[in-house]
Amino acid sequence: MSCGGAGCDDCQDGRWKLTECPVVYIGSAMVRRIADALKLVRFARHGLLPVGGGVLNQTIWFRDFCDFAWRHQDAIKAEQQAAAYGY
Ligand SMILES: [Zn+2]
Repeated sequence: MSCGGAGCDDCQDGRWKLTECPVVYIGSAMVRRIADALKLVRFARHGLLPVGGGVLNQTIWFRDFCDFAWRHQDAIKAEQQAAAYGY
């Protein structure tokens, strides 16, 4: 973002909404790298850093299952909060 988040003609107050597949703009390899990095961020939120003994030393199926479970738990929590606050 060229405005550094201050707001400009290309964004709304430093934010933009993704409305089509990002592969068109940055390619599938970069999308995969970003998705992998975001997965590591989700593990870090739960205290598993990508260091020795951390998330990268866990089996792939366990990492994928944790990520699946946490994402669904987060979605359920968001739905419950939306219902509670009338979003
Ligand atoms: Zn901008």
